[in-house]
Amino acid sequence: MTTTSPRGARPTSAPPSTPAVERLELAVQTLRREYADGRRGRHVLVAQKVIASLGDVAATHDAATQITAIVQALAAYRTLPVDAREAELRSIADRVKALEPHLIAATPAMPKGRSPESLTRPKPRKTATSAPSRALAPDDPVTLLAGVGPAVAEKLAKLEIRTLRDLLRHRPRRYVDFTRTDPIGSLLRLRGEREATVRGTITELKEIPGKRAKRAEARINDGTGWARVTWFNVFVARQLQVGQEIVVSGAMDLFLPTPSFTNPEWERVRPEHGLPTELLPLYTLTAGLFQKTLRGLTAKALAALEDTLPDPLPESVRRDHRLIGLREAYAATHYPQGRHELEVASRRLVFDDVFLLQLGLLQRKKILIEGSAPDLTVGIPAALAFPAGLPFDLTGAQRRAVDETLADLAKPVPMNRLLQGDVGSGKTAVAATAARAAVAAGQQVVVMAPTEILAEQHALIFPKLFGHLPEDERPSVALLTGSTKAAARKVILPALAAGEIDILVGTHAVIQSGVDLARLGLVVIDEQHRFGVRQRAALPKKANGEQPHVLAMTATPIPRTLNMVLFGDMDVSVIDEMPPGRIPIETRRYLGDERYQAYDLVREQVAKGHQVFVICPLVEESDTLEEKAAVAEAVRLQEEVFPDLRIALLHGRMPGREKDAVMAAMRAHDFDILVATSVIEVGIDIPNATVMIIEGADRFGLAQLHQFRGRVGRGGARSYCLLLADQASLDGEARLNLLVGTTDGFLLAEQDLKLRGPGDFLGTRQSGLPDMPWLSEGFDTRLLEQARRAAAEVLESDPTLSRPEHLALAAVATRFWSSAMADIVFR
Ligand code: ADP
Ligand code: MG
Repeated sequence: MTTTSPRGARPTSAPPSTPAVERLELAVQTLRREYADGRRGRHVLVAQKVIASLGDVAATHDAATQITAIVQALAAYRTLPVDAREAELRSIADRVKALEPHLIAATPAMPKGRSPESLTRPKPRKTATSAPSRALAPDDPVTLLAGVGPAVAEKLAKLEIRTLRDLLRHRPRRYVDFTRTDPIGSLLRLRGEREATVRGTITELKEIPGKRAKRAEARINDGTGWARVTWFNVFVARQLQVGQEIVVSGAMDLFLPTPSFTNPEWERVRPEHGLPTELLPLYTLTAGLFQKTLRGLTAKALAALEDTLPDPLPESVRRDHRLIGLREAYAATHYPQGRHELEVASRRLVFDDVFLLQLGLLQRKKILIEGSAPDLTVGIPAALAFPAGLPFDLTGAQRRAVDETLADLAKPVPMNRLLQGDVGSGKTAVAATAARAAVAAGQQVVVMAPTEILAEQHALIFPKLFGHLPEDERPSVALLTGSTKAAARKVILPALAAGEIDILVGTHAVIQSGVDLARLGLVVIDEQHRFGVRQRAALPKKANGEQPHVLAMTATPIPRTLNMVLFGDMDVSVIDEMPPGRIPIETRRYLGDERYQAYDLVREQVAKGHQVFVICPLVEESDTLEEKAAVAEAVRLQEEVFPDLRIALLHGRMPGREKDAVMAAMRAHDFDILVATSVIEVGIDIPNATVMIIEGADRFGLAQLHQFRGRVGRGGARSYCLLLADQASLDGEARLNLLVGTTDGFLLAEQDLKLRGPGDFLGTRQSGLPDMPWLSEGFDTRLLEQARRAAAEVLESDPTLSRPEHLALAAVATRFWSSAMADIVFR
């Protein structure tokens, strides 16, 4: 998007150093563009960013609150149906314009001189360019740094780096420690791809002409063995000579007979200085961007923010928890002097992530508790009697969850409960019991599912669960999805508004937009980890200001230690017991060509009349690539392995109707094998399926593998989960073995946390949480507890964060949460 606005400001990013009024104008312009462009939501993110940046120049606390509210309104705007957007956009634009008198007209001059925190660093080794001449603000675009033209900016944008702050928050993926090298001879014992650092003398050096580009190849020897190093850049070789000693570090290909490095990082060991001692950061890159470039840019950003990076942590918190300053922490992250310094920096930044997260969650909880919800007390007796009519006895864990839920519903305060239970643990029965309470109290219930398939499944199951009730007490159930015909919508919507439908089941996108319920008492969110945890803002609202009770359900077992971190604003019920009589799923692991044994089992099961799922490797977090992998696998299986079997394909980019058709056909047993991408993870129920094959299983986390596994074993027959991997890495293999050893999802979650860190549980795509790069990698329960306590204390002493010493904190907290488009309000 490149449109010019007055005085040439850049529309994609509004530097806070630009006068407030100009930024305001820019915001209004962007909204106009959205309006003129058909209100398709294309300009909303930009507008959101620009408006959020105004937070720094809000003259009053009310103005800051208003800015936050506008940002949230914009986030919600995109969930509106297009025909409802016009009025909302006008109203938002008016609110933005009304901000003008409440902004600080000019950015205050930056203090000269050094802050007490400023460091003598950075003195980046490889950056020749000097620091920019003027101070910048953290929200300024990277394009204000010398050397960042449109081309570089575009590449940075691919890494979500747009501002100086983004740059500093781009956490190095790892560090090369040139002082810790491996003997080359020892590398041969390892299997699989690995990163290593070796030091050796160059014994041979040559340039090799290639079809497209020349490459340089070196052999190095350290007395224990030799390694081959290839650079697709001959200029590297021209800086080296035979006989020199170098250190190289990078991914090593061990499937070749010799340890081989391609385009590794390298350093010369200089006789006069000895070994380079610094840790060299390695960043995640994108095509055309180099480590060197990023290193240079982080240095420039640090220099430009020398005196202008506000530290949101109150002085007292920093002192109490012995944390270093923010700028110091970023400097040490990008230019660490040693391991210890790196750890100290990382501790500070993990603390920040948790502190901001907890601040938001606690604030949110407080707002919720202050709200009011429909009183469902009169429905409780009916709900208590309800499970006795079900065709099974509730398990102890289910009964506990029911008790906890009903206790919440008997209070006039909105319930915000998360029901965690493994696949098949019987969460639906708990939800139905809660729904019974609501309906018996004369209220309506909304059941939101992440996919149409699942919504349809619920629309079938719910009436069955209520089948034993006398006819006049049976709730009426309606289904509303993207595929619902206009004619049917015309009947359903008025019936909902009139209160004639008791339970509305549907996909959440549909329910969010313009559905009006007369007496909404309870919202059940199934598989809520697929939605993002923090989307309450988009829930149907009640006209009288009451909030519905919310029961969210997830089949993702979360380690107990993480529950507090992730769901500090919710009450959690755990169903950690399976209904009796389940035959445990047998899990097996096959490496390389052993896959043909797995295929034998497939034939055997298909011959018995059963069906099979095949999940394809998640190449990246990309639907397109996943789709490619699935298509290729389906073709391969059909042509090379099972020409006589009926194979279907399901992937996330298929239109909803097509997906439904495939699932319906699979359920009707028109197919023997369903090849799918990870879309299948979501609660699909085909009881006749007995085999789950997971290709590239070593690439998935335990928790996710466990989810896939739960797709089979739903009928009475013995079922199998077959984990296939080409050549698992050592830790990949260890993880697969854990899965073979247990079916306890909570145990696996704890292991996943230990082995892979909390990243898998925090991923924004799953949790709807803000991006927390430091927390994702480091996990220290004690530090989490400290940060949580500190956040509680700050909020206790200043619930609205309006004291002067908390202003920087309030601004950062708002930004942190608006990046997740969450509905946290700092008032
Ligand atoms: P999930 O927690 O994955 O949503 P469901 O609610 O779909 O699990 O339950 C899985 C299956 O177990 C359903 O067929 C359900 O009828 C059955 N079920 C639930 N609770 C019990 C129980 N206490 N005893 C026996 N079967 C049960
Ligand atoms: Mg379910």
